[in-house]
Amino acid sequence: MSVPFLDLRAPYGELRGEIDAALQRVLSSGWYLMGPELEAFEAEFAAWCGNAHCVAVGSGCDALELSLRAMGVGEGDEVIVPSHTFFASWVAVSRSGARPVPVEPDERTCTLDPARIEAAVTPRTKVIMPVHLYGHPADLRAVEDVAARHGLRILQDAAQAHGAAEHGRRIGSRSTSAFSFYPGKNLGALGDGGAVVTDDAELAERLRLLRNVGSREKYVHEVVAANSRLDELQAAVLRVKLTRLDEWNERRRAVAARYLDGLKGVGDLVLPVPAPWAEPVWHLFVVRTARRRELQERLAAAGIGTLVHYPVAVHRSPAYAGHGYAPGSLPLAERLADEVLSLPMGPHLDDDAVDAVVAATREAFA
Ligand SMILES: *Cc1c(COP(=O)(O)O)cnc(C)c1O
Repeated sequence: MSVPFLDLRAPYGELRGEIDAALQRVLSSGWYLMGPELEAFEAEFAAWCGNAHCVAVGSGCDALELSLRAMGVGEGDEVIVPSHTFFASWVAVSRSGARPVPVEPDERTCTLDPARIEAAVTPRTKVIMPVHLYGHPADLRAVEDVAARHGLRILQDAAQAHGAAEHGRRIGSRSTSAFSFYPGKNLGALGDGGAVVTDDAELAERLRLLRNVGSREKYVHEVVAANSRLDELQAAVLRVKLTRLDEWNERRRAVAARYLDGLKGVGDLVLPVPAPWAEPVWHLFVVRTARRRELQERLAAAGIGTLVHYPVAVHRSPAYAGHGYAPGSLPLAERLADEVLSLPMGPHLDDDAVDAVVAATREAFA
């Protein structure tokens, strides 16, 4: 049985009638940007997250960068980021003009290690950016403690964590959070998209300027800003998919539970261990092994698609060469980059497919 890493046709297949109708509605309306679909999606997504405001933008990268700019972050500032994350978390900081200051992860959750955050704070620090990597919430209570002690703001990178919760509260409800609607995310558009949710009305207002060439009123440009808007077609599709997101996240949890059960005690395989206070949404199901390449090859031979998130630690990527992050300076991030492997995961993976992945993984270690 072959199992693709992710089948993006499946969600469309499930919702074809509703998505086609939504697209048709926009196509025949003649209104393609900054219209009623965007407004409705923003209201619906804010309510779903438990926030007062949502400002949708062109991508998750933009959601992060514009949030930092709206917070007044710029040249000479520092932002604390995880050493182990997707490149975009760092690049949003760099594009704002600030410097990313990496903190190594807690190996169990693969998110910011709460015990290491405070040591990274300097007089230049403005913001802490926890990333809820793989859909597992970062330890927000610890982040909030440090932020409160030092007068810092928090910007959550929730690009992989739509609907995740910690201590019973949904990610996004506690402080300003940036989401991505890249097609493969838990809530994915048919192209690029992103959003910021926040309870801070002033910040939301500023974001509305920053996403729309600095303008509230046509041809009145109040700040220097580019164009980063979520179009009506994407907003209409996201509205349909949002109605299924809770159900889809539940299915991801069931898939993860089946993997955790089936893969117990296999070779040197390290399985993800959610923190007791966390309700992850399993954007990815990431295992670790020193024999990653071998496992990946054997699974591929059995027709099972896997990916590596991410094969190169951000500070070792060519883009950050010469930025003063020495090789070997973030050993945990470098080790994770060598050992992590993402197994097929998604709301449309059935039990037979999960069992096939489990069997092939067991076989690979036999
Ligand atoms: C996907 C992602 C982003 C960027 O989102 P885009 O919509 O692709 O720009 C940022 N951070 C993390 C952790 C992501 O997974």
